[in-house]
Amino acid sequence: MVTIEEALRIVKSQEVALKTTTISLSEALGFTLARKVLAPFDMPSFDNSAMDGYALCGLQQEYTLVGEIAAGDTADLVLKEGEAARIFTGAKVPENTTAVMMQEKTNVENTRLFLDEMPRESQNIRKRGGELAAGQIVFEVGHMINAATLGLLGSLGLKKVEVFQKPNVKLITTGNELIAPGQQREEGQIYESNSFALSGALEQFGFRCSEKIQIKDDYEATKSGIAGALDSCDMLLLSGGISVGDYDFVKQALEENGVEEQFYKVMQKPGKPLFFGRKANKFVFALPGNPASSLTCFYVYVLPLLQKLSGAENYGLTRYHFPLNHDYENKGNRPVFLKAKYTNGKIEILDGQGSSMIQSMALGNALAFMNAESAVKKGESVECLLIN
Ligand code: AMP
Ligand code: MG
Repeated sequence: MVTIEEALRIVKSQEVALKTTTISLSEALGFTLARKVLAPFDMPSFDNSAMDGYALCGLQQEYTLVGEIAAGDTADLVLKEGEAARIFTGAKVPENTTAVMMQEKTNVENTRLFLDEMPRESQNIRKRGGELAAGQIVFEVGHMINAATLGLLGSLGLKKVEVFQKPNVKLITTGNELIAPGQQREEGQIYESNSFALSGALEQFGFRCSEKIQIKDDYEATKSGIAGALDSCDMLLLSGGISVGDYDFVKQALEENGVEEQFYKVMQKPGKPLFFGRKANKFVFALPGNPASSLTCFYVYVLPLLQKLSGAENYGLTRYHFPLNHDYENKGNRPVFLKAKYTNGKIEILDGQGSSMIQSMALGNALAFMNAESAVKKGESVECLLIN
């Protein structure tokens, strides 16, 4: 049995072998860059107007209008002292432009332009290279591609990027009592649900489950199921069968398959019978079958490793500290992850904390952490992970 901190340290300190791939920009959201990106040209690549207004040559309050430049125009207008040209946002400023005056501060009479105020040198001109100079590092290796990253890479004219591959994840659910939704339910049977929750949690963070396998509580079936799945994945998740019951075969079957235990059992609630192991570069989490336990363990332990395996620099959910909006006492002798809801800057511990209860997790959006045998007063802060 290890503590939560020890378990997290073991998970996060695993040596991983990263694989790279080149993908198109339209598929790259959520991937991590495997190669640094340099600016292929100055950004912006030409001096352009930040406003709809007038490009001015010289600093005065009256000008003669000599032309018009719209965004995308290539006409090479050259202004002389005292001349101005109508210009639109993003259009290349003509040569000799001293400043651009926004149209709201101007009046036009025939070909004469009058300004409400004196212009300032360089005003409203977006200078060539003002954001990035050619050759400059735009993103380092390890940068996670977000929407703005896609925007910038697109504006640099890049169609493809080299990223770290995401791990291939497989999921095995175990249990004689489990039937698939849609099947006729007999007494003693329950609908298998962890695979839906875990696949959803994977997708929520940009991962996917490439195969779901359902296995009965049978040692040989568990052993061969694990062998087959391990063969072709980077991360194997199992649900159920990892506790101490007579029908819990997962641990033994993993050992038989050469999976080396990194830890088994964590001093926590829910999720005590959590197993973590590896075989070469393949990782295995055997998650407890109780729905809230398996999903909690996913957010706390599985997610950080998935993120590390996909090259992320920062992995694991951010730990926040929020004030509790009521008193709460953990009378138990294990630290707890409590299903909670964060609203308006405060955290509320929800009803329905049982390991098998998942409604509170669905209605809530956070896991609040509390030490064993500890009490927190209203207004005092608790550590939380935001999960929804
Ligand atoms: P186990 O960890 O196999 O002892 O299972 C603990 C509890 O979780 C039992 O009540 C199981 O019926 C339930 N359970 C196990 N696997 C699943 C699953 N895939 N979906 C829903 N409930 C499950
Ligand atoms: Mg079971």
